[in-house]
Amino acid sequence: MSERVIPLIDERQRKVDSFVPAIPEQLLPATGLLSDNRGRQLHDLRISVTDRCNFRCTYCMPKEVFDKDYPYLSHGDLLSFEEIVRIAKIYIGHGVEKIRLTGGEPLLRKHIEKLIAMLAPLKTLSGKPIDLTLTTNGSLLRKKAQSLKDAGLTRITVSLDSLNDETFRKMNDVDFPVADVLDGIAAAQEAGFTNIKVNMVVKKGTNDQEIIPMANYFKNSPIILRFIEFMDVGASNGWNMAEVLSSAEVIKKIHETYPLRNLNPNYSGEVVERWEYADGSGEVGVISSVTQAFCKDCTRARLSTEGKMYLCLFATKGYDLKELLRQGKSDLEISNVIAQIWGQRSDHYSELRGSPEMSDRLKVEMSYIGG
Ligand code: SAM
Ligand code: SF4
Ligand code: SF4
Repeated sequence: MSERVIPLIDERQRKVDSFVPAIPEQLLPATGLLSDNRGRQLHDLRISVTDRCNFRCTYCMPKEVFDKDYPYLSHGDLLSFEEIVRIAKIYIGHGVEKIRLTGGEPLLRKHIEKLIAMLAPLKTLSGKPIDLTLTTNGSLLRKKAQSLKDAGLTRITVSLDSLNDETFRKMNDVDFPVADVLDGIAAAQEAGFTNIKVNMVVKKGTNDQEIIPMANYFKNSPIILRFIEFMDVGASNGWNMAEVLSSAEVIKKIHETYPLRNLNPNYSGEVVERWEYADGSGEVGVISSVTQAFCKDCTRARLSTEGKMYLCLFATKGYDLKELLRQGKSDLEISNVIAQIWGQRSDHYSELRGSPEMSDRLKVEMSYIGG
């Protein structure tokens, strides 16, 4: 792959396409099986509940762009909890079994526990509880872990890029201490979360020296650590292929210190490649979004903070479902809109990354669409 640099760009001068989809003429009930035009069945929904964050991770919301004048969405532009739940139910009708709340920082959304309490009781079409989870930077977990658990959340993912305080403060760029995130993880354990994952974005030359200390810290614990390749999401993170450390290199590095064995996927199409320590001291995973595209198994739809449907993390356009809700369209009408949009989906950006047709692509920001 050729080396490329994505420059820092002020998003306010650019506008990602979005439009209000038309209601199909023929309205059909959902079947629970919805395939896109590459045969990928809709299965997961990621919901961004806020476009705001108290961190300024350099790879996601760099300070230079997301400054005090940045035009965040106003309260009236956000989907209400009732609207989120209504859309989630329509997606479940199409076969969605897994919902992830994200952002921005989802714990900044006021009364997020209330939304969790509304989503947690939902059942999949086969009658199982919906697999509901949330990704957080962990900064508010000490305060919120118990109420999230009480509201019905069972799984949680915490992002943590370093155990070294100086490196961590530099990466979050708001001088947030790593000890507070570690304390947040401890709070989640105390609250009774047994399914906790930790995600580390690896940036070569920035935090790759932290791979072994992180592996060492989470070995012998029930927490599964996963390494994510630094991605060219959005248009403002200054992405550079030279800063990507491949998952293969991450695994090699760990294996040299702590021998690893490959594990079978939990299910076909799982995006995480699983490994276990040969001495039985736990599991780690790698997510190779850049070096080993997994588009062929990508079954995720995304719902932005203001209710637009996106078909890919690297999408250039969104479909305004909120407008349809607020125009008073029925569930059946919206369900058919979603079916039509998903049916036409052909996105596979990661397989095309670096090709001429993808250069200068105007992508939506991850903090807005939800990671
Ligand atoms: N604020 C929450 C957090 O950080 O966990 C949730 C939203 S964040 C956008 C979701 C995930 O995306 C985090 O694990 C973050 O590390 C990851 N992420 C953000 N920018 C990324 C990038 N350029 N490459 C890879 N992962 C990225
Ligand atoms: Fe905020 Fe998460 Fe993005 Fe960091 S990765 S800036 S914590 S939304
Ligand atoms: Fe899915 Fe788009 Fe990522 Fe491919 S690039 S795995 S289609 S989100």
